Amino acid sequence: FLHRIMAQFATVRGGKAHPEIKVQTGLFINNEFVSSADSQEVIDAVNPFTEQVLCSVVAASPKDIDLAVTAARNAFNTTWGKNVTGWERRKQINFFVLHHSSYGQELAELETLNNGKPFKIARDFDIGDSVQCLRYFAGWADKLAGETLEVDNKTKFAFTKREPIGVCGQIIPWNYPINMWAWKVGPALAAGCTIVMKPSELTPLTALKLSEYVKEAGFPPGVLNTVPSLGPVGGAALSSHLDVDKVAFTGSTLTGRKIMEAAAQSNLKKVSLELGGKSPHLIFESCDVDQAASWAALGICYNSGQDCTAGSRVYVQESIKDKFIETLVSKVKALSVGDGLDQKSSAGPLVSKGQYDRVWGYIESGKSEGAKVILGGDKRSGKGFFVDPTLFTDIQPNMKIVQEEVQIGVLIFGPVLCIGTFATEEEAIKLANATTFGLGAGLHSNDANQCMRVSSALEAGTVWVNAYNILSNNTPFGGKKQSGFGRELGSLALEEYTSTKAVHWNFGEKLDWPAF
Ligand code: NAD
Repeated sequence: FLHRIMAQFATVRGGKAHPEIKVQTGLFINNEFVSSADSQEVIDAVNPFTEQVLCSVVAASPKDIDLAVTAARNAFNTTWGKNVTGWERRKQINFFVLHHSSYGQELAELETLNNGKPFKIARDFDIGDSVQCLRYFAGWADKLAGETLEVDNKTKFAFTKREPIGVCGQIIPWNYPINMWAWKVGPALAAGCTIVMKPSELTPLTALKLSEYVKEAGFPPGVLNTVPSLGPVGGAALSSHLDVDKVAFTGSTLTGRKIMEAAAQSNLKKVSLELGGKSPHLIFESCDVDQAASWAALGICYNSGQDCTAGSRVYVQESIKDKFIETLVSKVKALSVGDGLDQKSSAGPLVSKGQYDRVWGYIESGKSEGAKVILGGDKRSGKGFFVDPTLFTDIQPNMKIVQEEVQIGVLIFGPVLCIGTFATEEEAIKLANATTFGLGAGLHSNDANQCMRVSSALEAGTVWVNAYNILSNNTPFGGKKQSGFGRELGSLALEEYTSTKAVHWNFGEKLDWPAF
């Protein structure tokens, strides 16, 4: 299953480049790369800059998913789960992190080749943060304490234990393949769960590469299994499997609904969903305009707008509208969009042809519905799934680019920004909350009372004040409304992977029978 990917790294500076990357392309089950038990299906991994196929990986069938779940169950019952102490789990995860971080360069190159994002961002942010995330959760492994509770102080007490929930299916998207892997794997392993990981069919390569390190770092077979597969095949089999105890998902609201239905109709497994958003960014007149414009540019341009919290609706107070828009346009223009392997690029192409077509469809609909394009909006010639940052003004609440297909939950997910205006704080809050989503929201103001009032009023799981898109491993992340439920990162992430057992202990009471 070894596939060699030849890559041109001549333009990458600041690190040792690999002339070729070797990737295992089989399914990773029980610490071995294997072929499918009953299928010949493969998935092509494409380079979104060249539009060429990098390699084909084995696509898991429902039978393969079942084999991976069996491997994870066996490991949970024998070599992981309650059979290892928190201290041993911490040591094992940290040992893995050492491997992971020492291969950072190679992983970043692979991420750029398969996802399109700039190499320097993949290396410094995606890989850097995922290493810190795994370290953070490794630290929790031996600190999952319960409580001691008084029931009757003369004869009885109770204590609680945090136990691993069991076998976890983890279904992740393509926008941050390594980060989403770390966000899900970290707390699951720290809690003692075993994993069947299904990466996105668009970006399976780094999850397969990380699987090699799982084996090298000495995890017992079956603790972490990786099964690239098409969503409606492997993802559906995982979410409806009777021996999976929990499914963690990041992706579209549309798919989130299907996963919840599958869980409900099979074994009522625990579900956590991190779905999309149409996040608002409010710019009040007292703000530092230059800073607000920088954060707004980051909010829509980072990762080419392929971000669940992308600040895709900016509302600016009328009194500073012209100055703010002019500054924002100059900031966005300064961004270089190009080949991810070019050191100068700050943003790359979109991940796939499908995503490219979807985003261009929205841009065309914005134009035809009468919104005004003030930057971007024209296709490039040549190869690569590029969409240059596109800014719309003169928007109306009912336009497709503002509302998007909220009912089915498929969003633009590209560098397309709608800019509207407001007169009062009340109006700003109303506009911001006028969506079925509630993932992220931002506000810029130098009035502390206003910051407090507005951050309380915004319906979102995360609110950024005088900033945007900042995340920290110790701070929970997740949504409200149709952006999902459950929390990742921080101590709350461990709640998703543990179940609390209460033990009542009698050390004195004799029961006189019949007692009632
Ligand atoms: P998606 O929801 O279809 O895919 C995400 C993951 O779910 C992938 O691993 C996919 O294989 C899997 N999946 C698909 N169908 C499934 C099913 N029936 N059962 C179980 N798993 C299934 O998203 P997409 O098609 O890759 O992207 C479409 C839209 O989703 C984007 O435009 C964006 O709005 C949203 N999205 C959101 C995030 C996020 O971070 N919240 C990430 C990626 C995509």
